[in-house]
Amino acid sequence: TFNFCAGPAMLPVEVMQQAQQEFINWQQQGCSVMEISHRSKPFIKLAAEAEQDLRDLLNIPANYKVLFMHGGGRGQFSAVPLNLLKPGQTADYIVSGAWSQSAVEEAQKYGAINTQDIRSKSAGGIRSITAPEQWQLTPGAAYVHCCPNETVDGVEFTGLPQTDSPIVADLSSTILSRPIDVSRYGVIYAGAQKNIGPSGLTLAIVRDDLLPAKDTAIPSVLDYRLAAENDSMFNTPPTFAWYLAGLVFKWLKRQGGVTEMATRNQSKASLLYDYIDKSDFYSNDVDKAYRSWMNVPFFLADERLNDTFLAQAEQHGLLALKGHRMVGGMRASIYNAMPLAGVQTLVSFMQEFERVHG
Ligand code: PLP
Repeated sequence: TFNFCAGPAMLPVEVMQQAQQEFINWQQQGCSVMEISHRSKPFIKLAAEAEQDLRDLLNIPANYKVLFMHGGGRGQFSAVPLNLLKPGQTADYIVSGAWSQSAVEEAQKYGAINTQDIRSKSAGGIRSITAPEQWQLTPGAAYVHCCPNETVDGVEFTGLPQTDSPIVADLSSTILSRPIDVSRYGVIYAGAQKNIGPSGLTLAIVRDDLLPAKDTAIPSVLDYRLAAENDSMFNTPPTFAWYLAGLVFKWLKRQGGVTEMATRNQSKASLLYDYIDKSDFYSNDVDKAYRSWMNVPFFLADERLNDTFLAQAEQHGLLALKGHRMVGGMRASIYNAMPLAGVQTLVSFMQEFERVHG
């Protein structure tokens, strides 16, 4: 079975097998890792190791804090302005799709937000975005927020805003899928449930000069300074999710890290897009320059066949292909844990479906 859900997404099979083996007796503790204190020595060691592995994978500079938080991507939609936007300041938000728009709506509760809608339609109704050089940014903005991979829309860009202000990026759907230069960002955040681990854990990577001042009125669980000063254990962290994320990081290192992931992800995405582009039966309306490696929306020319497509896909062990309700059609999310074989099986199924119904 291959699960194409946009999140919570598949975890690597080897990780699930290891977790199963040590489920009720983790490291000879006589109980599960989820049953021990986050303040116990073995858990603290696990937590530190997970952080170090992530630092190694992303080459995170020493002046960045790595925070394991609660609250998901949406929690960070609030945490970012609460931590970074001071009274009287403005923050810029680049809108490239549904999630960056949601981030705007949350941030507007806390301060002055300047939005730059970079979505455009080019010839033939192709969805695109304008290039970073054209974005109108506010000089001296407290930060510039963007979402380089829009999970719902299947739009991904790699160019960053051209600004002296700190760049804050929602990398929920792209973190660990390819190398990034962390030093170009002020804050990176990501809900875990795509390329990291199970939902319930949220990662924030924060340049230390951006930590808020002491005693700023921020809800404690969203306060980057408190999280950093308490090694992400100001309150009880999502311990089991943290443990699984740690196993995923070790798995990624064994696979060859994010460089190897980029190679694999590009091949998986090309296989699927190339087939869609060759076929008249399926289509994807995102500009080729901005197509997501992680989330591939596609449409059947005859939308009346959608339900049949989904039902038969499920019979073939291809799950969760229904498109997001805002976009419609289909969507295949092909995160790190999706093997090439999953995409090959999907393409074979799509070919056969086209042969029968085309
Ligand atoms: N940002 C992006 C890019 C997402 O894909 C999602 C969820 O899919 C979110 C934010 C919201 O995350 P959460 O559901 O963890 O709040």
